[in-house]
Amino acid sequence: MTDSATEQSRHADGVHEHGWLTESSHRTSEGQVLYVRCASCGVRRVDLQIHAFLPPHPLSRERG
Ligand SMILES: [Zn+2]
Repeated sequence: MTDSATEQSRHADGVHEHGWLTESSHRTSEGQVLYVRCASCGVRRVDLQIHAFLPPHPLSRERG
């Protein structure tokens, strides 16, 4: 494997536009907690949506 191939696989691994799917969600006193997973790479994240009209923001770092 060449260096550039290694570089490419790392790029594909870590940097792409995640396509988040909501696996489950539940309401808390702070808002709606969304458990999302990327459809393409399987990385999971937890988002908090304070209000239905506001975009959710991540509570956790992405992890595989
Ligand atoms: Zn992804």
